[in-house]
Amino acid sequence: MSESPALVTCNVLVLGAGAAGLRAAIAAHDAAVDTMILGSRGRADAHTALAAGGINAALGTHDPDDWRQHFADTYVEGHALADPPAIELLCREAPRALEELAAWGCPFARTPDGRLDQRYFGAHRHRRTCYAGDYTGRAVLDTLLAQVTRRGVPIVEQTYVSSLLCDGGVCFGAYAFDVATGRRTAYLADAVVLATGGHTRLWRYSSSRRDENYGDGMALALAAGCELGDMEMVQFHPTGMTHPEEWAGALVTEAVRGEGGKLFNAAGERFMGRYDPDRMELSARDRVAAANYVEIAEGRGGPHGGVFLDVSHLDREQITEKLPRIQRQFLEAQMLDITAGHMEVTPTAHYAMGGVVVEPESHGTGVDGLYAAGEVTTGVHGANRLGGNSLTETVVFGRRAGEAAATRARTLGAAHRSGSALVEAGEHLEALVGPGDAFALPVLRHLRDLMWRGCGVVRSAASLREALGALDDVRLASARIDVQPSPGGWVDLARACAVRAALPCCEATLRGALAREESRGAHRRSDHPEEAPSPYNLVVAERGRGTLGIEARAPRRVPDELRPLLAEPPAEAAAGKLLE
Ligand SMILES: Cc1cc2nc3c(=O)[nH]c(=O)nc-3n(C[C@H](O)[C@H](O)[C@H](O)COP(=O)(O)OP(=O)(O)OC[C@H]3O[C@@H](n4cnc5c(N)ncnc54)[C@H](O)[C@@H]3O)c2cc1C
Repeated sequence: MSESPALVTCNVLVLGAGAAGLRAAIAAHDAAVDTMILGSRGRADAHTALAAGGINAALGTHDPDDWRQHFADTYVEGHALADPPAIELLCREAPRALEELAAWGCPFARTPDGRLDQRYFGAHRHRRTCYAGDYTGRAVLDTLLAQVTRRGVPIVEQTYVSSLLCDGGVCFGAYAFDVATGRRTAYLADAVVLATGGHTRLWRYSSSRRDENYGDGMALALAAGCELGDMEMVQFHPTGMTHPEEWAGALVTEAVRGEGGKLFNAAGERFMGRYDPDRMELSARDRVAAANYVEIAEGRGGPHGGVFLDVSHLDREQITEKLPRIQRQFLEAQMLDITAGHMEVTPTAHYAMGGVVVEPESHGTGVDGLYAAGEVTTGVHGANRLGGNSLTETVVFGRRAGEAAATRARTLGAAHRSGSALVEAGEHLEALVGPGDAFALPVLRHLRDLMWRGCGVVRSAASLREALGALDDVRLASARIDVQPSPGGWVDLARACAVRAALPCCEATLRGALAREESRGAHRRSDHPEEAPSPYNLVVAERGRGTLGIEARAPRRVPDELRPLLAEPPAEAAAGKLLE
């Protein structure tokens, strides 16, 4: 495959067809610039479709809510690491973003008098989560897709981006190949929006699906000269499936505990009594995840490496009515009837709070012409994400990034191009093609095991150093991956690209976790169990020849007028508030 690449030009190139990418493309198109979207999978097949519980905005449908309280809850849940100007934009603009989705036909649940219904989500002071059954992400994605289609914005599907095209600190496009045919194309643009999602598939148990969320966008951004922030901040959901392999890590919704599900270890002990005797299974997400992890790590797990979650004491009708998805999921995957037998569950990597550092207003990355939005970025979630805020983030900042990219495209004097950057991107991809004695999938699996052991729910200097050492072996194996076209097309090449992206993402995450000598939010260090007196962000950037440098920075201060609101929400019973 050494023929020269096809050339395609547009004003704004959006990488990723999840909610953030689609919203960015709509904004760019509406600003009257020629826009195009690339996605590595099919058009309706982005990770966003998995989101179930809901999307937040302080609409005040039922409670006296406003954006300031939404700000305070987000900041407090993020353990003082999130960027206040970014949260302020998120919370101020969320109502407009949701009303827009509703006006575009998103089938949100309504109150009897026709307003957008809102329900509780854990750690929110008020009911501010809008929802569409238990398929909110799918509903948002389909609504945005319909708008993209209506506007005639092209989505180039099954197209894998292997490099950003950059020269002299300016990004002017992306280099990609068609996963079916292998055909290479250089997409040249005035501005690029990166919306490629997170990196949680890099853990053994992950709520992401196969072939997504290997951190591609973070690695592309790092190579382009961007900074990555707080990569060690990964939210672990307390309950994912343990088996079979293709289901490992798939989410078991917190609603199971909300409905009265009880956790037991292999000795039959209801162990939450030792971790949070007051709230038991309704304790905070990070505390239940840590409890499950410790029980398993200390050898009190079941045959598939999990603990047991039991609802068999509940009425069959209650289970069928309230937990139909989970009931079906276990029947399909394990032939298990959860009304009679217990589920085996493990914590699962669920959401990346860290990512590309962006300026709040435009979501510019610091590299001219390159913007980013959605889970690939960092800023609004700090050390722990408030449930329902990530879908809001995709639409609020997708729009902002798309508008900023369009403004750049309209005002740019001359298009930036570089033949040598194009040649380099081609060579970078071709270097992966050829025979080898290793396969990408087992290498990825090895990496995921390594991250699980070394940088799981609870980490220590020893586990992190061991993982960093083991990463060098994976680096060597990655140079020997066999990449040939197969009847399935160039899937091997896509996976080899995923390995190449995963390596710097893992390294940045491990280095961040090692440097963060404290426990804060989702980051738990067994050797540093206390929170440091002052919060700090950890920023990683390339310092030449692939070497990563790391630096601590003080977060910006919360404006004085918002400080009085910063208090933990009242510790009411969490029943009925666990939705994700
Ligand atoms: C099970 C589950 C439940 C959740 N529930 C909720 C919820 O209730 N509320 C909430 O707010 N959040 C929830 N989340 C989180 C939320 O779904 C995500 O954070 C959000 O959808 C991310 O959207 P995105 O547009 O940033 O990225 P994604 O939806 O991940 O889209 C990324 C896009 O980039 C493409 N891409 C990636 N790499 C490349 C590449 N190299 N080349 C080309 N294209 C590429 C992908 O194909 C995809 O189109 C949940 C997550 C999970 C896993």
